[in-house]
Amino acid sequence: MSAIRLFVTTTEKQAAAVLDVISMVFEDEGYAVATMEIDEKRDVWEASVYMMADEEESVRSRLADALATEFSHLPIEREVLPEIDWIAKSLEGLAPVRAGRFVVHGSHDRDKVKTGEIAIEIDAGQAFGTGHHGTTAGCLEMLASVARSRRIGNVLDLGTGSGVLAIAAWKLLHVPGLATDIDPVATRVARENARRNGVVAGLTFATAPGFHSTAFGAHSPFDLIIANILARPLMKMAPELVANLAPGGSVILSGILAEQRWKVLAAYNGQRLRHVRTLWRNGWVTIHLTK
Ligand code: SAH
Repeated sequence: MSAIRLFVTTTEKQAAAVLDVISMVFEDEGYAVATMEIDEKRDVWEASVYMMADEEESVRSRLADALATEFSHLPIEREVLPEIDWIAKSLEGLAPVRAGRFVVHGSHDRDKVKTGEIAIEIDAGQAFGTGHHGTTAGCLEMLASVARSRRIGNVLDLGTGSGVLAIAAWKLLHVPGLATDIDPVATRVARENARRNGVVAGLTFATAPGFHSTAFGAHSPFDLIIANILARPLMKMAPELVANLAPGGSVILSGILAEQRWKVLAAYNGQRLRHVRTLWRNGWVTIHLTK
């Protein structure tokens, strides 16, 4: 299914005001929102919300409601984005996903794993992260490459979803890890997936919004933090995230649309992290930074 961007065209100042309004309505539900500059000289900006095609009708009417008070003069425009490998409703029939040395597969594809590959078995369920989304695959690829060049003694997977990244890190590095999610269902699913993947010890799972949990006391600071969430919460969490990162540590950020990457980089540069590398997959970027 294709993704849709609904947007309004306006000035930089007003685009920021529109962003505040649409963030309040849509961001808690996981829709990506963003502003981007179209023409610097003429001060032309766009403020956008992103959704899948089947959600367009409901998002459009709520967007119109949200804009009605202050911004009713701005027409809502629409763009169909290139096809994205979105989280599939069922893994049946879906091919295994390969990224770096990792292969993420459903239980029906156990026999497709090749020698030398690190297999992670995840059946599609109630939590995000079958490997089919460009952000998950990007994190796996980046994890494999960061692990080659840096010594990592412990890992945080922030927004663990299905647990896929925490399990991958554990299988690759065999070092202690903490995996957290704001959603208790995800935490439960992730713990179950870890068990199914033979992770019996070393990974701790906790339900927590951001860094608000006592679980961090026992584990922080981390040599590697992987956070595949969304651009806005990642920017908001930058100071806390960096405070939980050991000197010389690495951060892998994803859930960021390509056009949002400068804002996210600015937030983390502001915390004195240095950009190492950016990976692109299906319009999404995965960024590696170090402290
Ligand atoms: N790590 C998995 C899942 C990413 S989906 C993968 O890469 O495939 C993003 C997850 O982050 C969701 O499970 C969501 O519940 C969680 N999340 C969103 N905001 C969060 C926050 N503020 N703190 C912790 N987890 C959060």
